[in-house]
Amino acid sequence: MKIAVLSRNPRLYSTRRLVEAIVQKGHEALVIDHMKCDIIMDEKGPSIYYEGQKLNDLDAVIPRIGASVTFYGTAVVRQFEMMDVFSPVSSIAITRSRDKLRSLQILSRHGIGMPNTAFTNFNKKENNVLKHIGKAPVVIKLLEGTQGLGVVLAETEKAATSVIEAFESLKTRVILQEFIEEAGGADIRAFVVDGEVVGAMKRQGKEGEFRSNLHRGGEANVIKLSRAEKSTALKAAKSMGLAVAGVDMLQSKKGPLVLEVNSSPGLEGIEQATKVDIAAKIIEFIEKSKKKTKRSSKSN
Ligand code: ADP
Ligand code: GLU
Repeated sequence: MKIAVLSRNPRLYSTRRLVEAIVQKGHEALVIDHMKCDIIMDEKGPSIYYEGQKLNDLDAVIPRIGASVTFYGTAVVRQFEMMDVFSPVSSIAITRSRDKLRSLQILSRHGIGMPNTAFTNFNKKENNVLKHIGKAPVVIKLLEGTQGLGVVLAETEKAATSVIEAFESLKTRVILQEFIEEAGGADIRAFVVDGEVVGAMKRQGKEGEFRSNLHRGGEANVIKLSRAEKSTALKAAKSMGLAVAGVDMLQSKKGPLVLEVNSSPGLEGIEQATKVDIAAKIIEFIEKSKKKTKRSSKSN
């Protein structure tokens, strides 16, 4: 097969590892910068031009679309889908996962454990939306934040109200969330491929930090998941329509609580913590999916 990794930077760990795994499995690998793809539509059908060349012999693409280029990146993935090029994560599932609010709405509908969360317009004088999520401290999150930036812990109800008002005056949308104190500044990342948890790690924030993001100085270690954690991760990935996903959960008294489901989860932290060849698992999933009957649907 000829498999392209859609990535802006061939030197990134995840991109390099995917290329390695494609070659190791005896396929041809290339890296395509999705931002340099032109999407062409005419009555002859959908096509993509890359650096002036028509791309017409790919069997599969592996999207590694950064959050800042979701719109263009997913348009390119969708075009490949229209050309019947296989993608282990669909454009629609990437779009879905990039919207924090929509993701939580979907997870809630599927009855998946999550911290109680509220979204409000604050257009009333009297707004007691905080009562839905419990007592302070309260977590306030920018809908557009990633890597732990834009996640604030308000210690008191008063502080929460001021922070909410400040964001409101900037016309910045936020969600309010129950603070899961017993998570102790740690979270777990379960890496799901094809209905299986292929690796899991626990990330611990640095001293005095409630956010465990590696980008915020957190540290990762391999962890064995409980049965409940495993099944929550699998259910969360499935409800989002993602065959490859990084599911972030908090460990709580109520059991595992999902924070988010990533559609382009990084490989570096998880492969180093678990020593599992996760890139190979992704390629095996592509091989298996391609063997199944050709896709029949022509709409999206
Ligand atoms: P981002 O998408 O920016 O990483 P997250 O929602 O994952 O934002 O939050 C970043 C980190 O903050 C999480 O990994 C977790 O450690 C901590 N955190 C987030 N929400 C809560 C919460 N409700 N209770 C306790 N800790 C939280
Ligand atoms: N590469 C980072 C990580 O795995 C960010 C991408 C993601 O959250 O999946 O923590």
